[in-house]
Amino acid sequence: MKNLKHRELQEGEFWRKFPAFAEVSQDEFIDYKWQIKNSISDLKKLVETIEYFVSDDFLLAITKGFHLAPMTVRVTPYLLSLIDWNDPWNDPIRKQFIPASNRLIEDHPMLTLDSLHEQKDSPVSGLTHRYSDKALFLTVNSCPVYCRFCTRSYAVGADTETVKKMDLYLNSKHWETAFQYIESCPELEDIVISGGDTYNLSAEAIKKIGFRLLQIPHIQRIRFATKGLAVMPMKILSDEKWVDALTEVVCLGRKLHKQVAIHTHFNNAQEITMISKLAIDKLFERGIVIRNQSVLLRGVNDTSEEMQLLVKRLSYINVQPYYVYQHDMVQGVEDLRTSVQTTIEIEKNVRGVTAGFNTPTFVLDAPGGGGKRCIHSFEYYNPETGVSVYTAPSVKPGKYFMYFDPLHSLSEEIRQAWRDENKRQQMCLDAIYHSGVAVRSHFA
Ligand code: SF4
Repeated sequence: MKNLKHRELQEGEFWRKFPAFAEVSQDEFIDYKWQIKNSISDLKKLVETIEYFVSDDFLLAITKGFHLAPMTVRVTPYLLSLIDWNDPWNDPIRKQFIPASNRLIEDHPMLTLDSLHEQKDSPVSGLTHRYSDKALFLTVNSCPVYCRFCTRSYAVGADTETVKKMDLYLNSKHWETAFQYIESCPELEDIVISGGDTYNLSAEAIKKIGFRLLQIPHIQRIRFATKGLAVMPMKILSDEKWVDALTEVVCLGRKLHKQVAIHTHFNNAQEITMISKLAIDKLFERGIVIRNQSVLLRGVNDTSEEMQLLVKRLSYINVQPYYVYQHDMVQGVEDLRTSVQTTIEIEKNVRGVTAGFNTPTFVLDAPGGGGKRCIHSFEYYNPETGVSVYTAPSVKPGKYFMYFDPLHSLSEEIRQAWRDENKRQQMCLDAIYHSGVAVRSHFA
């Protein structure tokens, strides 16, 4: 018998297994307003909801975790119902959204909050223009849930006890400044509308932003970035106004011969249920293209089997697996980061399980603003010290970018070396020397 596990989607009233939702009807559970109203963002409410069936150790760990996390916590009832509460320590959904203090580990000393230097490449607040023909337009700073590992933890969500968020002034006045900048750059063809999460934009805002961008003659492609499909697919099934607004933007794009797509963010096959399929079927019937961008996360999808299953399941529901990202070097979530070597191994095992157009590219977003590089394209990589060196000739010619594997993937001796300022510098200099990039950038 062939392995068809990717087609086995959770169906029926699975949420009733979660004690707090045992009495919740299908109509209620499918209603996005009910999902929003019952989302949990407060420690007391979470503890009250789960204290009857988890251990005291777990409650203590998440209580401490709330105080240490760079991101605020917010989870939908849908996600809560998908967590295996018999083993919450190891559950891939719990790991992404609910921090447990005793699973946190030491940050690599080279980590920063804005590791991609998005702010340095921002000509106007909330707009990153790094690639010549593409810009990232941040429109909102909130999300339906908050991922512990968010790249934009420096600005997304409310302040936490450990991170004061940067205010990017994401409002309609700022949008106007961004539109004017985009209009003034004829080389721009492609705009990623992101945040935060565009799920949190109103139907009016979706139309306003979409129509305005499509009317700019040189803009050919726009994409709405949202994790919403993975964490609250109910919105697609019950917020007709929002889905209609999106459809109108897609239809206008089609008339103008311009692409409009959704980029979403599933990380583990467990997140894809029959409800997800129904939501995506609805968008598919309206001709809306959906691509997926996963992040490779330790204990969530960092085995070949998990990633193969995710890729096959996404393909099965007509979501194109587009990218798998190496985890960015953001602070406070080192327990979730993997080494470049791990990503290389997984990529080898994923390539070939399905059609090429459904095989994601495994990329590393070069720290410091080099943009996305294929994981294999390093100039030099030393798995022993965990240093890799990348270049980005078409983005930042003459520059090089370094990525550092997490300390937990290195030997004790090398971990100690990273704690020493001088040895740290030496390991970086060795990597630069062996890569040859210093000589090339000198003559560039
Ligand atoms: S949904 Fe996106 S922007 Fe929001 S917390 Fe998650 S990764 Fe960050």
